[in-house]
Amino acid sequence: ATPMSIMTATGRGAHAGVLIKEAAALERFASVDTLIVDKTGTLTEGRPKLTDVFAAGGIAENELLALAAALEKGSEHPLAEAIVEGAVERGVTVADAGDFEAVTGKGVSGTVAGSKVALGNAAMMADLGVDTVSISAQADALRGEGKTAMFVAVGGVLAGLVAVADPVKPTTAAAIGALHDSGLRIIMATGDNERTARAIAGKLGIDEVRAGLLPEQKGALVEELRAKGAGVAMAGDGVNDAPALAAADVGIAMGTGADVAVESAGITLVKGDLNGIVRARTLARATIRNIR
Ligand code: ADP
Ligand code: MG
Repeated sequence: ATPMSIMTATGRGAHAGVLIKEAAALERFASVDTLIVDKTGTLTEGRPKLTDVFAAGGIAENELLALAAALEKGSEHPLAEAIVEGAVERGVTVADAGDFEAVTGKGVSGTVAGSKVALGNAAMMADLGVDTVSISAQADALRGEGKTAMFVAVGGVLAGLVAVADPVKPTTAAAIGALHDSGLRIIMATGDNERTARAIAGKLGIDEVRAGLLPEQKGALVEELRAKGAGVAMAGDGVNDAPALAAADVGIAMGTGADVAVESAGITLVKGDLNGIVRARTLARATIRNIR
């Protein structure tokens, strides 16, 4: 690469909201054939809203929501904010939790009003030995609508579930189309449930879905595809995306996301939508043409 063409590209990129930390990353982005995208906050708004509360085993709905919200006050996850806001909107008083613990990619636990409470996905419940089978049909129905369903356990017994919906960004579908046209295979990688992930991916025409991934497993997916000879770009916004962003040939951070995501990426998009990736791909290819 000539210094001049890279400088021009860097300047043009900045103008288009594409910040290039590492010039070589932009060049590599011209030739990758695979793009992995995180779901929450990258394809979707990342500002989910509480949609459903389903109580099982005798507890009142608002009581269930109060316990869930008390725990989530201690979490910075977008899902947590949705649950706390939803509780407040429904006029539920949100207490403080003790012994708060967050398990990355799984959920949260703590003590609320003297009871051990846990909230999270099926893996979280499995770790705690809580059986979710009695309400798995309800959970699956909500996931089929693209919602994220989270189980609540009180005193080690299943007490119900809460669900949130996170709308897809209005720019996502068209950007996915343009990225396909530029020759990229697009894979969704998410910590969320398979059914939820497939409901959203199906609407967007995404080629492949890898769901239920922990942060290290997102990184391992990048390694697996690279080992098979793919050139891999990864786009994400969260703390849980940092290992994958660092492992990819090109890491693309949504600038609206976590600092550690930005630190792990060679390219950062100022605006948090996929159109920035389309612009980066166009710029990368133009740069390569000028160099050759
Ligand atoms: P993504 O890859 O979509 O950004 P995460 O890896 O952050 O998702 O989370 C994966 C799953 O773990 C969530 O869909 C949710 O079921 C569960 N989870 C994570 N954090 C929390 C939390 N604070 N409260 C409840 N559930 C959580
Ligand atoms: Mg995310």
